[in-house]
Amino acid sequence: MVYENRDRVKIGLEIHLQLNRLKTKIFCGCTTSYHGDPPNTHVCPVCLGLPGALPVVNRRAVEYAIRVGLALNCEISEHTQFYRKNYYYPDLPRGFQITQYDYPIAHHGHVVIEGEDGEHTVRINRAHLEEDPGRLVHEGTIDRSRYTLVDYNRSGIPLLEIVTEPDLRSPKEARRFLDKLRNIVEYLDVTDLDLEGSMRVDANVSIMGGNRAEIKNISSFRGAEKALLYEIVRQKNLLRRGGSVRQETRHFDEAREITVGIRRKEEAHDYRYFPEPDLVPLRITDWVAKVREELPELPDARRERFVREYGIKAEHAKTITGELKLAQFFEDVVLGGADPLIAATWIADVLKGELNYRDKTIESFRREDMIEIIQLLTEDKITERSGVEIIRTLLDEKGESVASIVSEKNLLKIESDEIDAAVREAIEENRKAVDDYRNGKDEALNFILGAVMKKTRGRADPKKAREMIIEEISDSAG
Ligand code: ZN
Ligand code: MN
Repeated sequence: MVYENRDRVKIGLEIHLQLNRLKTKIFCGCTTSYHGDPPNTHVCPVCLGLPGALPVVNRRAVEYAIRVGLALNCEISEHTQFYRKNYYYPDLPRGFQITQYDYPIAHHGHVVIEGEDGEHTVRINRAHLEEDPGRLVHEGTIDRSRYTLVDYNRSGIPLLEIVTEPDLRSPKEARRFLDKLRNIVEYLDVTDLDLEGSMRVDANVSIMGGNRAEIKNISSFRGAEKALLYEIVRQKNLLRRGGSVRQETRHFDEAREITVGIRRKEEAHDYRYFPEPDLVPLRITDWVAKVREELPELPDARRERFVREYGIKAEHAKTITGELKLAQFFEDVVLGGADPLIAATWIADVLKGELNYRDKTIESFRREDMIEIIQLLTEDKITERSGVEIIRTLLDEKGESVASIVSEKNLLKIESDEIDAAVREAIEENRKAVDDYRNGKDEALNFILGAVMKKTRGRADPKKAREMIIEEISDSAG
């Protein structure tokens, strides 16, 4: 969109990522798997903030934070330290959140995304560890509820807060950054992204160098894009009418797709940050080498490797590596003996589309079936149309196996003899079309071809059948 450049849109994002692959919470031994369990069943004096309870940092949480930091091309601090961020809210029983301030675990990173005009670098300001607060639950909607309930199962879930510089220039770029971050996190295996609230987004946005508004309560990536689009238009209209944008925190009302001002934006000093006296500073330099060694192959590297190693198209490699499971599926299929180019085309262009159409994931398709289908295509035993039909039948759970579908639907390509017989019959039965064709009506040929395809129930190679019809007609003319 053109207006965005003219209006100098600046967007920064703050992402709270639950490191929920960890078994225990960040400062106590309570489990992190609370989803679906009754409220307040995974709590202890530490995560309930009872007086005198002492936190102990989860070593693995620090390692996971370093892992994400490295994947975002960050520098890792030599020393790291926790701080108290003081504020009162019912979901925060201690009256302060243990988080980081100076000396975050990771800082000065960057991520390259596909921007509005080619590659675009988004700087990462920092990534720091903190504890998730509890969860407030309302009866019905928040404005109608007679009371607020508090569930502390979530209190103390390890969170990594990732803060970008305001380098994003449009809601679309913000969306692309979030998709890329999700992709990276998926490969790192630190978070189960299917769990509700595993990746939460706040966004700040300003235009024409004015004040920035921070938008909270964004629950999806699509929501982020919509909230930003709304907010940019709001600020623009405000400036056009001679007003000015207030520095404030706004709430995204998802149902109405608008943002609503809720409070003046706090300054850092409002929180009276000071070092957490119950946790010692950590020297983490020595941990970095080990974490780096364990770092898995990341999406960009895998995409480049797929192009290099298997010679597949860049566009296909991008689609396939855009989802970890799809990338693993592709590689398994190729290692299982399938031709990489055909596999890439069929997985990225056909299978992915059929899955999306049915709102299914790659897990609902067997690797062996894909290998078998590609084998049949490579050996020219079925037509492409039949290949698609087999995939659809399997996805709709209307066929047992590739072999049974092929035999039930009679999909094996037929021999020339059989096509030949069908061609002769079709010509015999459609003399008028033959005459029309001879008199220069080319489209009459399609009519005869249709008859041949009908007689062979679609198993004839259309190109071959067409050639045979032309040959047959000119033969009988001579
Ligand atoms: Zn606990
Ligand atoms: Mn935070």
